[in-house]
Amino acid sequence: MPPLPPGSTIGILGGGQLGRMLALAAARLGFKCHVYNDVPGPACDVAAAATLGGFDDLQKLEAFAGAVDVVTYEFENVPVAAAAAVEGIVPVRPGLKALQVSQDRLAEKRFVSGLGLPVAPFASIEDAQDLEAAFRTVTFPAILKTRRMGYDGKGQTRVANAAELAAKLAEIASPPATLEAVVDFTCEVSVVLVRGLDGMTRFYDIPVNRHEGGILRTSTVPCALPGAHQERARDIAQALAAALDYVGVLAVEMFYTSDADRPLIVNEFAPRVHNSGHWTIDACAVSQFENHVRAVAGWPLGPTERHSDAVMQNLIGADVEDWARLAAEPGACLHLYGKGEARPGRKMGHATWLAPRTGRP
Ligand code: AMP
Repeated sequence: MPPLPPGSTIGILGGGQLGRMLALAAARLGFKCHVYNDVPGPACDVAAAATLGGFDDLQKLEAFAGAVDVVTYEFENVPVAAAAAVEGIVPVRPGLKALQVSQDRLAEKRFVSGLGLPVAPFASIEDAQDLEAAFRTVTFPAILKTRRMGYDGKGQTRVANAAELAAKLAEIASPPATLEAVVDFTCEVSVVLVRGLDGMTRFYDIPVNRHEGGILRTSTVPCALPGAHQERARDIAQALAAALDYVGVLAVEMFYTSDADRPLIVNEFAPRVHNSGHWTIDACAVSQFENHVRAVAGWPLGPTERHSDAVMQNLIGADVEDWARLAAEPGACLHLYGKGEARPGRKMGHATWLAPRTGRP
């Protein structure tokens, strides 16, 4: 398929800050964006068009698909049926497979481990009957996670022993859950890659990610992982992208451990642009957002090298009240998402601090 010419319209399923930054990047290349979401959101404010409609309103979704040239999504909980309705009319990139697998933690773990890639020991828990079998695979301490709709640390709880698990199961495990071993990690990292229509793949530098309360707090590049381990992390992410026949930006979150044989364990992947790649807006010539747009439009990929070292910090909840100080701070690149109420845990914006690039890759 020939590349989409400038002036074409990219449809975005989802209307959050990721869609907003995608639309801004798309505008730089002369594209228009049309957002589809169930509620007004940060992306609607910067898009050429927006349709407000439910993700179960197939008629509206089809009308949206008819008005755009290609469709992408900016959150992984878009119902697969909604994406399928759109796919009958225009290409959806990345495809439905990535959506399907990443929506369900159990399917995701099985998919990743089925490729021979490292994951923490895990078990499926549909009800109390499954516990015995789970104890044979997973040792304590462990984490009980809902299979669906978990993000930013939501829908998961640590359990120290069998009694605690039985108690928590009653709270969390309807719908079904997964139990997974707690990984004793040194740090968390992510690989953010972009894969073009032709399979060409490029990688951004690997950030080290610090979470607080299950929510990403900072991403820092460069990370201190040895080169061979960074290469291993890239290989893992590339294998996943290839298996998904992926087009666009893919983020793979991993635990880095001191186990020399298994230094990297995949936690989860996100079939979209990712918070741990926000630093690329300011520290790279072509950001993750622009490269995602390029990939879904069938364009050549842009360079992914960083020109600066960077620390990205999320502005969560009341952090955003600091905007005037950050705006006055030389060297702070401020990004605000235009959201109304600064509720606790809500991502309101981020800031990135740049420094001259150091030698480490
Ligand atoms: P998730 O919702 O799976 O992305 O998890 C959010 C955060 O919880 C991760 O970034 C980790 O900090 C922590 N976490 C999740 N799963 C595990 C695990 N198996 N072992 C240790 N920490 C975990």
